[in-house]
Amino acid sequence: MDIKNKSLLKNLSYVDGEWINANDGSVTEILNPANSESLGSVPNCGSSETVAAIEAATKAQTKWSKADVKERALVLRNLHRLMLENQDDLAKIITFEGGKPISESVGEIAYAASFFEWFSEEAKRVYGDVIPGHQYDRRTLVIKQPIGVVGCITPWNFPSAMLARKIAPAIAVGCSIVSKPAPETPFSALAMAYLSELAGLPKGVLNIVTGDAEQIGAALTGHKDIRKITFTGSTSVGKLLLKQSAESVKKVSLELGGHAPFIIFDDADLDAAVDGALIAKYRNSGQTCVCANRIYVQSSIYDDFCERFTQKTSGLLVGNGLEEKTQQGPLISNNAMKKVSLHIKDAKDKGAKIATGGNPHALGGLFFEPTVLTGVTDDMLIAKEETFGPVAPIFSFESEQEVIRRANDTSYGLAAYFYTSDLGKSWRVSEQLEFGMVGLNTGIISTEMAPFGGIKESGLGREGSKYGVDDYLEMKYISLAGIEE
Ligand code: NAP
Repeated sequence: MDIKNKSLLKNLSYVDGEWINANDGSVTEILNPANSESLGSVPNCGSSETVAAIEAATKAQTKWSKADVKERALVLRNLHRLMLENQDDLAKIITFEGGKPISESVGEIAYAASFFEWFSEEAKRVYGDVIPGHQYDRRTLVIKQPIGVVGCITPWNFPSAMLARKIAPAIAVGCSIVSKPAPETPFSALAMAYLSELAGLPKGVLNIVTGDAEQIGAALTGHKDIRKITFTGSTSVGKLLLKQSAESVKKVSLELGGHAPFIIFDDADLDAAVDGALIAKYRNSGQTCVCANRIYVQSSIYDDFCERFTQKTSGLLVGNGLEEKTQQGPLISNNAMKKVSLHIKDAKDKGAKIATGGNPHALGGLFFEPTVLTGVTDDMLIAKEETFGPVAPIFSFESEQEVIRRANDTSYGLAAYFYTSDLGKSWRVSEQLEFGMVGLNTGIISTEMAPFGGIKESGLGREGSKYGVDDYLEMKYISLAGIEE
């Protein structure tokens, strides 16, 4: 990988402040999705390396939880600064391993770094409570304490931001972490571990174990010293980890899949809605959990919207993410290509029309044409399943109540979007959408300052914002008796 600061490129796992190989020396090769070239390899660790990491984290946690809060805040501030000082190189690493257009990768690093800044501030605001005593000689105190060692598993689509969103609050409140990155994108996580060392994080507080998902997942969920599991990824793996964690009743946070409705009412600013839908659909080639999956347009403006949206979609520049002008990179894998093709074929077979795209891109490999489907109906696969690709299915609707019912008709509940200029409708629809996050007249909702997360089968818990520390804390109530003389 051609970057300036070569020290960011680590090809070993990071345990107890040491860079380690797998015990059996085995490795996994990492490929660039834009051209299938090898980017190097990382250790293929399993249970024993994970247990060693948990033991190191357990030892480190006792000390870290007692560190002065200002020391923890300083480490996080340092990490924020170091991420931004290395922003261009870290962004290139994301693009090399994940394929994302470089401008989006630069944005992801800024987003990831923002969590270190935010939680450096929140570290000092972990307040308790004093409650009136229930008897005359009693007082009741509530304190919050770090939950303990955290097991963390992250996906490939935001390899830097998803990790930062979890480790920043953990570090802030005094937890230590054992984390497994996705096998497609381990280098971003290893670079972050390297920077954490420079930032002054004591050894053992952050451990990164690359390798076998089932073994590492089982070791994390099965170990008594892991007190919390935090996971971002698919709903099916989230459910499995929740089941595995039930045995020892661990606290679990899950950021899972989504199936976001994107609703455009006929009183909306249509140009703004087209631009909002474009960014909400095609960011990261449609491979984000908050991507618009179902675009509902009120029937009176349906044709007009489809025409404008299709025109802009067909102008999107597809190519290697490292080229500055690229707006859409490759998909992550052959399986992703297959799922996109399957959704398009199923929709076509059931009567949808392809307004633009619809095929693998002429560039070959993992590139797919940005696609718009019109005349989409609720019986099509794409109306139910997460596509995770650059396909925009456009549905038509008549009334507010109808579209709310159809938008909510999903087991997912992560993000929803709608465009309107009517104040009353803004409130009514926001309140009735069964999703953890609602974008009103915007297609971009992620910020470290707001609580990110879903309801229903999209997850448990919230990340970012003042609420983001709660998942890493335990509440303790102290009943103080014998006050009166
Ligand atoms: P995934 O298949 O669930 O993988 C996510 C992570 O889980 C990877 O590190 C994976 O490692 C690991 N994993 C898989 N099986 C495991 C097991 N049995 N035990 C322990 N770990 C296991 O999801 P993905 O395809 O990478 O990511 C896309 C999904 O993530 C989408 O559904 C998307 O909506 C969701 N997502 C949600 C959010 C959110 O904030 N809600 C954000 C981003 C993405 P291996 O690949 O090695 O198996």
